[in-house]
Order: sequence, then structure tokens, then C-alpha cells
Amino acid sequence: MRQITEDPAVLPILAGKALEICHFDPITLEDKGAKTCGKACYECLLDYGNQPDHKDLNRHSIRDLLAELSKSECRPAGGTGSRAERMAALLKRCDSKLEQRWLNLVDNLKLNPPSDAQYLIESCSTKPDFFYSEYSAAIYIDGPPHDEPDQIRSDEAITQRLMEMGYAVIRFHHNANWNEIFNRHPDIFGKSRA
Ligand SMILES: [Zn+2]
Repeated sequence: MRQITEDPAVLPILAGKALEICHFDPITLEDKGAKTCGKACYECLLDYGNQPDHKDLNRHSIRDLLAELSKSECRPAGGTGSRAERMAALLKRCDSKLEQRWLNLVDNLKLNPPSDAQYLIESCSTKPDFFYSEYSAAIYIDGPPHDEPDQIRSDEAITQRLMEMGYAVIRFHHNANWNEIFNRHPDIFGKSRA
């Protein structure tokens, strides 16, 4: 999914491959399965797992849509989406120098940028500093005020509540080794390519 949003070439490749699987030439749309396959066969859309749907599966009904997708250009919704532009927009929404430092590190290490900054999770009455919507991951950058006992207790309560609701919570303490934390979550941040 990430590749589709980040690389405009991926969706056309996928659509072309899907046409091939459905026995259509991805360029000319010639039906190469006319003799061997009617609406669908076990070489294309049918498998034992989708038997209840066999009567509805018809490779011809998706041909034109796939053909369109194979010539499409994929852009993130919300328009202009180069990495640099997204980073700049996120940077503007940072609340502190520490958050800016974190974001710049993400950028320098070529890690995945968060989808949001100061993202309100209403059900838990909390606004993580950053948020990865794809992973429901809330990121907190904890500066020195978070070392106060009262704040520690309240942070722990928020973490608990979020996890009960199915969110992942990752806290970057101002004194922690941030690279190490990134490395612990390659599924969310990606692998450092710096
Ligand atoms: Zn077939």
C-alpha cells in the first residue's frame, strides 16, 4: 500500500499484471482466454476459497477499469505531495523545538514521514505529537516537563487508554536514543536508508 502512494509507477504495473491474470493483453486488451476461459476459470479469478461467489465473478466486467488504471498516474489525495512538501507542512505544525528535531531526524534518516502532526484522538482525549494513520500509531516526543511525577502518571494513563483502544503508542523521551527506538519499529518507520 505504501508503495502505491509513494511511487506513481506502481499502480499501473499492478493493473497491467491483473489484466494479464484475467487473460487480457495489457496493451491491446486482446482476450487471450476466449477459447479456454468464459467469465472466469481457476487460472484467473476462481479458487476454492471463493466458491460461493463463482456465479458473480466475471473477468470481463473489470477489464475497462483495469485498462484505465494501467494508464493512470497515482497521486496522494490532497494534491501536491512530494516528500519535501509534506515534511515542510508537518514541520509548521510542530509545537516545540524537540518535535522539530524529531521530524528532521525522520527526514535525514529517510524514514517514513508521519501522516499527521498534533492529531486529535477524541475518544482518548489526547493529541499525539505525530500520528501514523496506516498503523494507528501515536507518537509522543516527551520533553523535560514529562519527567515530572504528575505528568508521568498522566502520560501512563493516556498510553494505557490508547492501547486498550487498539492504538500503538511510541514515546521518544528527550534523553533516549531515538535511532534505537526507530530501529525497534521498522514496520512503522521503515528502515533507515541514511
Ligand atoms: Zn480464466
